[in-house]
Amino acid sequence: MIVLKIGGSSLKTVQSLDLIIRLLQQQTDKRRIIVLSALNGVTNHLMKSTAEALQTDRKISGLLDYLCTLHREWIINAIASPVLKNRVKDEIDYLLSRLEKLLYGIAYTGECTRRTRDLVASMGERLAVHLLAGYLTDRQIEAVGLEADKIGIVADGDFGNATANLPQTAEKLPLSVLPYVEKGVIPVITGFFGVTVDNHTITFGRGGSDYSAAVVAAALNCSELQIWKDVDGFLTADPTIAPDAQPLTYLSYDEAAELSYFGARILHPRTVGPLAQRNIPAVIKNTFRPEAPGTRIGAEKRQNDGIIKSVTFNPQIGYLRLEGAGLGQQVGFLQQVVSVLSQHDINIISVITAQTAVNLLLEKSDINRSKSFIEMTSIPGIDHLEPVLDVALVGVVGEGLSATRGLAARVFAAVAESGTNVEMIVSGASQVAQYFIIKESDVVPTILAIHREFFSKKNN
Ligand code: ASP
Repeated sequence: MIVLKIGGSSLKTVQSLDLIIRLLQQQTDKRRIIVLSALNGVTNHLMKSTAEALQTDRKISGLLDYLCTLHREWIINAIASPVLKNRVKDEIDYLLSRLEKLLYGIAYTGECTRRTRDLVASMGERLAVHLLAGYLTDRQIEAVGLEADKIGIVADGDFGNATANLPQTAEKLPLSVLPYVEKGVIPVITGFFGVTVDNHTITFGRGGSDYSAAVVAAALNCSELQIWKDVDGFLTADPTIAPDAQPLTYLSYDEAAELSYFGARILHPRTVGPLAQRNIPAVIKNTFRPEAPGTRIGAEKRQNDGIIKSVTFNPQIGYLRLEGAGLGQQVGFLQQVVSVLSQHDINIISVITAQTAVNLLLEKSDINRSKSFIEMTSIPGIDHLEPVLDVALVGVVGEGLSATRGLAARVFAAVAESGTNVEMIVSGASQVAQYFIIKESDVVPTILAIHREFFSKKNN
């Protein structure tokens, strides 16, 4: 049994549905489950609708009309059978009427909690699964649309950034999903969200359908996860910066996880976790170029001759420096800082410490908030707090990185030659990754210099 995750970027036009049929026809020897994103652009439209509803109720009907017209066009153009057309239309009308009530609720109360925002955001995937299931059934491939909260993808954590509860999900999904598979019906499951134990819809964060697909694959012990996108998989660098970036055909779980967490915008950062836990291989493929090998991800650790497999960057990460002469000696200091920030749902990406300073790597949007929360708590020992926002994080990733002599010297010699100053370094924390902080304005020359050193030179 395999899971195919189909992304919104693969669902841009009605014609892209034919590509999905082709993918399914190539794998008739396997039992298949689909995890689906919303149609291209729909989640953004829903987030915009929430923001608009908070201002006024006057735009709601126009915002809903857009979704209604979009989905109806797909129904009209994709489904031939009048009975199926009506069935899908009814399902979509029902979802849109729920959405309408939610948006008016937001407009009239003038408030929108993160819980409500998640429920609104989940509508795109709900609309899409019924559409695709209707289309497949119309083409003689029997399918059923299933919504994650009804089948029991259990999750907890923060609204907008939940984590799946794999043991509970693994108890529920065999009961709710396998009976369809056994009857030869393809389940088309909503990505992006799950359900809390007290029955509220909760999302996994933007791009979360990759993670949903990994959770479904792990909970049902599938033999493979295929992630279908509009790119060929991971590359040696961002091709908009390094036009000679090459595709990567294989990454270990650790390499893929580090790359996803720290920049490469290919996979939702948490996707690798459930796969690694159950040892399920994944492959990222391009829907529009299925003949390209894509990137395989698995347990085996393969070392390249040049060791480094990819260089990545994240301009959304900055840091908050906490300075104080005796910080390194102060028992429980970090615990106090972590507790303040976690009370406000702020995620600390990494911590780099010395005896006189503690640097918290944070999302830039969290840095000034974090400074105020720490100041309000008056944690003893801090003399000064310095937010640093004009920086970016660069990462190099490859199996064997921390164990190879001279590699760091090569990376930093290339960076120095490009004229970039390195402000801070994290090395050895992961066996496969090394990170450093530079000025945001230096990102392009830095990435180019490292890429040239490891991928464009003749001796590699
Ligand atoms: N539709 C959601 C988003 O655009 C989830 C996903 O596509 O993975 O973020």
